[in-house]
Amino acid sequence: ELSEFYYRQILIEDKLSDAIRNKEMYLYYQPQVDVERNKIIGLESLLRWNNRELGNVSPGEFIPIAEQKGYIIEIGNWVLEESLKTFNSWQQKGFDLETISINISSIELSRKNFRDNLVNLCKKYNVPHSKVKLEITERTLMINSEDNKKKIDGLIIDGFKIALDDFGTGYSNLKTMIDFFVHTLKIDKSLIDKIESKSSQVVIKAIIALSNYFDSEIIAEGVETKEQLDILIKLGCKRIQGYYFSKPLPEQEVE
Ligand code: C2E
Ligand code: CA
Ligand code: CA
Repeated sequence: ELSEFYYRQILIEDKLSDAIRNKEMYLYYQPQVDVERNKIIGLESLLRWNNRELGNVSPGEFIPIAEQKGYIIEIGNWVLEESLKTFNSWQQKGFDLETISINISSIELSRKNFRDNLVNLCKKYNVPHSKVKLEITERTLMINSEDNKKKIDGLIIDGFKIALDDFGTGYSNLKTMIDFFVHTLKIDKSLIDKIESKSSQVVIKAIIALSNYFDSEIIAEGVETKEQLDILIKLGCKRIQGYYFSKPLPEQEVE
């Protein structure tokens, strides 16, 4: 089993190096819904990879390898460009969307010209900075914390929005909230999965209170059922992302 595991790792590593050049990557987009206004307010772009030999490989599997091997820089840049290009075409078609959410790994953020590159791409595709929401995890803030903190402060000054992904999981830390002005807290699916439990509801309530205090928005991710939705609405969370409304979809199907 172990040798099979390493064999797959090496195969992925090998195929990943040409994946962008061979046009094997594409993006899906998952709607984020404001249930109060019954309206799609934004979309999160999610990376997909289909390789002839490996078939579909999930980002959960290949992103860590791309990070280790440094391919994430090229891949992440492609994701930024493709997301902004698509968002631009949606703007031109008159879709009224608040934001496009893009996942950023800590290694991309550490890159020296991340900010300049992002600013240039926004210019190229005529996307206002305020429409771009960068999803980062708290772990990203912990790694190289001083350096990354400065970068995020700079991005916020430039008008970009920051969402804290996977909020409410092991890493969550009040200090991060105080140190950064994050625009959005994204309540992790693990809390939604056990939302019927008292403890989960207490944590979600606390996150909502925290977000009110810091004047940030909240969105719940991984919402699959009507029961989960109802409890979230009762607790005061009105922005929802998850299979209940829609799975991530190709650009045309989103339209
Ligand atoms: P994430 O950012 O936390 O994304 C949420 C994941 O949950 C996505 O998986 C999404 O398809 C899935 N999901 C959404 N709603 C539901 C639901 O109701 N039920 C269930 N069971 N799942 C749901 P996906 O697309 O496989 O992505 C996995 C992770 O890979 C992402 O977690 C993110 O950390 C990373 N990732 C994806 N795209 C990119 C990217 O372009 N760049 C970077 N750096 N990371 C990415
Ligand atoms: Ca995300
Ligand atoms: Ca997440």
